[in-house]
Amino acid sequence: MTAVPVSIGMPRAWSSKSAATAAEEAASGPLVDTYGRVHRDLRISLTDRCSLRCTYCMPEQGNEWLAKSSILTLDEIVRIATVAAAAGVTTFRLTGGEPLLRTDIVEVVRRLAVIEGPDGRPVELAMTTNGIRLPELLPGLVDAGLRRLNISLDTLRRDRFRDLTRRDRLDDVLAGIAAAAASGLRPLKLNAVAMRDVNLDELTELVQFALDHDAELRFIEQMPLDAGHTWDRSRMVTRDEILDALAARWTLMPVPGRGGAPAERWMIDGGPRTVGVIASVTAPFCGDCDRLRLTADGQLRNCLFSTTEYDLLPVLRSPDGGTDVEIDGMLRSCVRGKLPGHAINDPGFLQPARGMNAIGG
Ligand code: SAM
Ligand code: SF4
Repeated sequence: MTAVPVSIGMPRAWSSKSAATAAEEAASGPLVDTYGRVHRDLRISLTDRCSLRCTYCMPEQGNEWLAKSSILTLDEIVRIATVAAAAGVTTFRLTGGEPLLRTDIVEVVRRLAVIEGPDGRPVELAMTTNGIRLPELLPGLVDAGLRRLNISLDTLRRDRFRDLTRRDRLDDVLAGIAAAAASGLRPLKLNAVAMRDVNLDELTELVQFALDHDAELRFIEQMPLDAGHTWDRSRMVTRDEILDALAARWTLMPVPGRGGAPAERWMIDGGPRTVGVIASVTAPFCGDCDRLRLTADGQLRNCLFSTTEYDLLPVLRSPDGGTDVEIDGMLRSCVRGKLPGHAINDPGFLQPARGMNAIGG
């Protein structure tokens, strides 16, 4: 396989598989990797830009933005997504950066929501957002076909929110959550990264807030994906610490049947209400991973922590526009190249050069 160093404006080097090689590898049937994992979930990052600057994700200043000319157009996104759906992808999750900053976001949703799989069933369209702009955009998004929402909320305290996100916008996020709660979109999920010096004393309040909004709180272990490379394992809050904090207030019973979902879930006081934990660091779930990622600048990634990307831009922007067979081949190369796990816990682990905002969470 040809390996070509690729640079897209950030100080990093990784390999990129050529379109021609990928086309040769094109096949049919579902996207199965060499460990038998079938890939059904495509995370589509729409932009690396954001209205917040969460410390665990982006630097306060000096972020190197993706070149505007490299950002996928709506037609390019739809084309890749259509090929992915034909190859068995059943869920698209729009993310970023902040997906609601994309000016054509309603049109993105409208075009993606009607894509069908080989069985004629439409894909499921979900979004992860910081919630800002939801009050104005949500009716249009629902009308366009958005089916599920995850909204990020790490703290309910204004001063903490301002320090953590470097923006004084808690009220806008809360208004977004209120709009989502009032909409018919269910299940509604709220994501919170648990952090020792930020919100460890607030975990039960966050769960109660979610319950009050008919939502499920999902705590995420902080991962080494911040653009500033400041993650420190000894300081991260673990799944067990999160559960201990919650167990002081509620009785938790595991929900069976997790499948490929990233979150382990527990029933609160016998249910039906639930809480989840995404323990990517202390209890990795790579063995059941069914996710692929498409960055805003057209790179396919088979893992959040991957250091190899599969560049679709040369196919999409070749003089003849490339073929769908080439795009399909690239998807299959990417899936075949997937490692068994992310190796965060290995001594030789290398953090990817891209921050989470440029990968797509
Ligand atoms: N801007 C949107 C948002 O914040 O929901 C979507 C993109 S954001 C990158 C997606 C998710 O990734 C958010 O829930 C965020 O909390 C999470 N995230 C970002 N950096 C992370 C990190 N270093 N560790 C764990 N989760 C992280
Ligand atoms: Fe923006 Fe989401 Fe990253 Fe926070 S986590 S800086 S809201 S992309």
